Amino acid sequence: MKGFAMTGPNKVAWIEKEKPKAGPRDAIIKPTALAPCSSDIHTVWEGGIDLQGEIRILGHEAIGIVDEVGNEVTDFKPGDKVIVPAITPNWSAKASQCGLHQHADCMLGGYQFTFIRDGSMAEYFLVNDADANLAIQPDDMSDEAALMLTDMVTTGFSGAENANIQIGDDVVVIGIGPVGLNAVAGAALRGAGKLFAVGSRPDCINIAKTYGATDIINYKKGDIVEQVLEATDGKGADAVVIAGGNSETFAQAIQMAKPGSTISNINYFGVQNYKSAGDILPIPRDAWGAGMAHKTITGGLCPGGRVRMEQLVNVVEAGRFDPSLLITHRFKGLEKVEDALYLMKDKPRDLIKPMVTL
Ligand code: NDP
Ligand code: ZN
Repeated sequence: MKGFAMTGPNKVAWIEKEKPKAGPRDAIIKPTALAPCSSDIHTVWEGGIDLQGEIRILGHEAIGIVDEVGNEVTDFKPGDKVIVPAITPNWSAKASQCGLHQHADCMLGGYQFTFIRDGSMAEYFLVNDADANLAIQPDDMSDEAALMLTDMVTTGFSGAENANIQIGDDVVVIGIGPVGLNAVAGAALRGAGKLFAVGSRPDCINIAKTYGATDIINYKKGDIVEQVLEATDGKGADAVVIAGGNSETFAQAIQMAKPGSTISNINYFGVQNYKSAGDILPIPRDAWGAGMAHKTITGGLCPGGRVRMEQLVNVVEAGRFDPSLLITHRFKGLEKVEDALYLMKDKPRDLIKPMVTL
């Protein structure tokens, strides 16, 4: 079969590989729609994953049709239309049993596609622990919406969940690419009062408003800490979600947060984001109350697995929000994943998320 792979640092290519075979608990999926992710760009061009010479197929955002299942899989059968979460952990691992499935077997071990084995940008791909990692795509759910649940929605929502937002809280979401936009939607669902969205691209700003942002802050038009403090009468935010920016942005998030607040990071701080800070992310001492401010900083890989996908399906089916609005560019045919990936790398200002249908 054909697959689109990372063949080395800064290198991608089409490769031929044997179609994977399902082990007892696995499923083989034939994708019906795929999307590249900012994380694929970090992986290939920013040293995000060191494959140590191995060639690995890219891609972790996919929906598809079940082609084959192993003999221990009970809940799915060939022909089922499924949503495949980006995070497909080994559910037997100790970390999974302790509630940290993202780090099953090793740090980030729940992220199996590309990190541990081949991803989904291929004619077929394998999903481990199929009964616990697949979810049925409802007949009336659009492919656009289903595809966005796999990574963008679960990540953005987890940013809002980890921020411990209470009804009526003033919340800031820094970064309103596809991930941050879902954090805006998640914060609105959690009952945010004022909801500040930080970004500059007009299309993203429009969707941020649709998803519930009450105020837009343009980081290109002045200091974002000052803008948030001014809009909150000097008090600062109850919760801050970081979904974009660099090490300075990380420091700003702490500066705009009140004592007792939570700063929830879902941004990937790859080498390009460290800038002047070297390998250390800065915590500004004053804003940290010299250690006395009771500000919680948290951050993590998005949740995956079947139940998480089913919960997200529920949110969409109930009409609470529409993730399909994130798709701005469309391609047809597997071979177009290459164009979609380069589009993601180039990031034209009107791009939110490309989708490739097969
Ligand atoms: P985008 O690049 O599309 O969006 C980034 C956002 O950050 C944009 O709104 C951008 O503004 C804004 N931004 C950039 N620089 C600054 C700055 N200095 N200050 C404030 N805002 C800034 O990224 P994605 O939404 O696709 O992804 C966001 C991050 O999430 C990535 O690092 C990605 O790897 C990560 N991610 C994490 C996952 C997880 O599990 N935790 C899963 C998937 C992705 P502008 O409007 O000007 O473009
Ligand atoms: Zn991703």
